[in-house]
Amino acid sequence: MKANTYDAIVIGSGISGGWAAKELCEKGLETLVLERGRQVTHREDYPTMHTPPWEFPLRGQLPLELRKENPVVSRCYAFRDDADHFFVKDKEHPYIQDKPFDWIRGYQVGGKSLLWARQVQRWSPFDFEGPGRDGFAVDWPIRYEDLAPWYSYVEKFIGVSGNKDGLDTLPDGEFLPPWEMNKVEKLVQERILEAYPDRKFVIGRCAHLTEPQAHHTAQGRGQCMARSLCQRGCPFGAYFSSNASTLPAAAATGNLTLRPHSVVHSLIYDDARGKVTGVRVVDAGSKETTEYFAKVIFVNASALNSNLILLNSKSDRFPEGLGNDNGLLGTHIAFHNYRGSLSASMEGHLDSYYYGRRPTAVMLPNFRNVKKQEMDFLRGYMSFYSAGRGGWGGARNEDFGPDFKEANSEAGPWGVYMMMQGETIPKRSNRVYLDDTQKDEWGMPQLRVDVGYDDNDEKSLRDFLDQGAEMLESAGCKNIRQNDSRQAPGLDIHEMGGVRMGKDPKTSLLGRFHQMHACPNVYVTDGASMTSTGTQNPSLTYMAFTARAVDHAVGALKRGDLT
Ligand SMILES: Cc1cc2nc3c(=O)[nH]c(=O)nc-3n(C[C@H](O)[C@H](O)[C@H](O)COP(=O)(O)OP(=O)(O)OC[C@H]3O[C@@H](n4cnc5c(N)ncnc54)[C@H](O)[C@@H]3O)c2cc1C
Repeated sequence: MKANTYDAIVIGSGISGGWAAKELCEKGLETLVLERGRQVTHREDYPTMHTPPWEFPLRGQLPLELRKENPVVSRCYAFRDDADHFFVKDKEHPYIQDKPFDWIRGYQVGGKSLLWARQVQRWSPFDFEGPGRDGFAVDWPIRYEDLAPWYSYVEKFIGVSGNKDGLDTLPDGEFLPPWEMNKVEKLVQERILEAYPDRKFVIGRCAHLTEPQAHHTAQGRGQCMARSLCQRGCPFGAYFSSNASTLPAAAATGNLTLRPHSVVHSLIYDDARGKVTGVRVVDAGSKETTEYFAKVIFVNASALNSNLILLNSKSDRFPEGLGNDNGLLGTHIAFHNYRGSLSASMEGHLDSYYYGRRPTAVMLPNFRNVKKQEMDFLRGYMSFYSAGRGGWGGARNEDFGPDFKEANSEAGPWGVYMMMQGETIPKRSNRVYLDDTQKDEWGMPQLRVDVGYDDNDEKSLRDFLDQGAEMLESAGCKNIRQNDSRQAPGLDIHEMGGVRMGKDPKTSLLGRFHQMHACPNVYVTDGASMTSTGTQNPSLTYMAFTARAVDHAVGALKRGDLT
């Protein structure tokens, strides 16, 4: 038992687990990180990072057979020949869809931090006030001011490129130089602002090093080369991943023990001592069970997996799952509504080119129901657009020979693409729970996912499509087409909730520092802890949550509050 005892245990090594590991280790705690997947060491384990396109047999596409075998993960845009090894395949880890739900996962050291699209925006005060003001979910137990210093702390460490835009709906952060908009994007921005003075599109904020600082280079991280091959793993460490950044920082302290191939089955609740003492781990290969012990446990297995582990942590005291006195564990799952998009063309500007690639788009913070309820639906959506010239190398109809070559050497006309990221309302009926009979290879019950859209989502989608079309029209775009992808929830990869924060133990699972009300030495700081979804990409908020919660946990340990 002594050999298996640490100061702290972290479950999962992805975006939030990596942060828990770094903070706990840097604050002097001997920390065990349990990760169900294999080791992925920065640079050493990025097999395709330098592979040129012509060396992929299908130029990056996947064989039809593989797609047929994996209908769920194949719907993710980044599941390609160059990165399929970082995604969970459908059959490897089955789950049960009561309603269609595309659960996209990455089980390895680093989790989905290797694969993410790196868009990071702070929540605004309006987002934290939303549920309390509008009467849905429960009131957040924290406000923007509680998190703002932690946003700054995280942004400085990970490196975030962005522009100081001074918008109250999207607070500025600690930014490295921004990426640039091209000529047509600027034009669209200006024209929309003329027509709608409260709708200022700004350049996207993303976790890329546009100007590495000393602490980045000290970690061996370098400047973004705009290769747009991020999902392969970045040899420059230029975008933030756990592998390039938080896990090496944790390891550098000498306090980290990272154990891959360790499937956390459940948390151990000691009825006699009335507290959680550790975790049960099934070895991914041998299937042997081992127990590990610690004073404090951080649950960071990603939103739905954290739900699964807690639901599976049954004891005499908690027969329905750890801390589940109110029966709400696994309920109020929410996500982002990505169904709406628009495409359009922009005539002219054929003398204008742009150079290279860019890892972000142009974005507009939510403008619906921000300061008061004004629509016939709750909350709103963030909008993104980008403009580009098609046609490079795309000439098809010209004769073979000089004409064909000539046609292929020119860029085509300008096109504009816009998409939504809509807030969804957490509801009790949107839930995950354990199947009674079906288990996975490691003896864990399979998760059943019962999550769907509602009327509010349909109204918000319709509004985005109408407003998007109007905005593009006011910008002078033509051939505007509205599209509803009807994609299932989950494909947004922003699943949240199930272990929500709140003020009252009767209606929430976690308090204001992410401690379980009923088990204060257990902290849940990934997406499972979200009370509502906001319209922002969520991972920056999970990182800030985690750093703040570790600070609290270490203080509580020092005060003797968690013994
Ligand atoms: C293609 C793509 C694009 C995305 N784009 C963005 C974006 O632009 N901005 C943004 O904010 N977010 C984005 N996301 C979402 C983002 O990746 C997640 O929000 C983030 O990774 C969540 O962090 P996490 O620590 O909760 O989970 P993860 O990073 O998924 O890490 C969880 C870890 O826990 C491990 N684990 C799970 N179960 C167990 C168990 N039982 N025992 C032990 N270990 C376990 C997993 O193997 C994994 O390593 C994107 C995701 C993808 C895939």
